[in-house]
Amino acid sequence: MITATSHGEVLQIKMSRYPDFPPATWVCAYLVDGLLIDTGPSYTAEELRDFLKEKGLKLAVNTHFHEDHISANKFLQDAYKVDIFAPALAIDKINKPASLYPYQEEVWGYPVPSRVKPLGHYIQTEKYRFDVIPTPSHDADHICLYEDKNGWLFTGDLYVSTRPLVCRPNEDLWQTLADLRKMRSLNPRSMFPAPTHVITQPMEKLDKAIAYLMELGNRVDALYNKGMPPERIMQEIFGAESMLAELTQNQFSSLNMVKSFLRKYE
Ligand SMILES: [Zn+2]
Repeated sequence: MITATSHGEVLQIKMSRYPDFPPATWVCAYLVDGLLIDTGPSYTAEELRDFLKEKGLKLAVNTHFHEDHISANKFLQDAYKVDIFAPALAIDKINKPASLYPYQEEVWGYPVPSRVKPLGHYIQTEKYRFDVIPTPSHDADHICLYEDKNGWLFTGDLYVSTRPLVCRPNEDLWQTLADLRKMRSLNPRSMFPAPTHVITQPMEKLDKAIAYLMELGNRVDALYNKGMPPERIMQEIFGAESMLAELTQNQFSSLNMVKSFLRKYE
């Protein structure tokens, strides 16, 4: 299912296999001045292709290789002959069959492999220039796009909320802090994340997210330096493991957050 909402010149396209499920099961792409940012999951790929008919689509960018951001690539290329660009580190992965956990297969589905072109330092549309900003915390290939005239910041999966309680096993939360600070330094006026609503006061949200993660990282550090193992640190800080851990085969857990902060000691 697809729903779309205009935010000035930016169209938010919200995609979900299960419309009644919680927010974690939908993802957003954005269409602005002919540029589509991310192409969504497999289950809505053909619906997105049909939705974009006569919407002036000229080109697309994948913010990273995850299956909920690339799966309509092939359908859009076949239907509209558009170029799709992705970060250099993502290209091989987008071009090969994906290997998914059961929850990913259930919620997003398998992407059809597609051939995409490497992103340069910026993407030019008819009216705007979007700077490509590497933000490797969510995954090594991840990028954000920033349009300076309007202060538009497209953050892919970098920003989820001001108080995230879970993360993936390979995320680096100290790097997340660095990436969020980099976003703050741009002084954005609107923020367009993939996993949540459009944010009209991004500086306030970024400040909160940075303060929360900084405090959390320092607490994890302090408990670890007292000799506490990661599992006990997780219980001490979060009380209990998130339900998402079991539902996602431990791909999203609070223990992952603790371990992420402690990886610097390995
Ligand atoms: Zn992702």
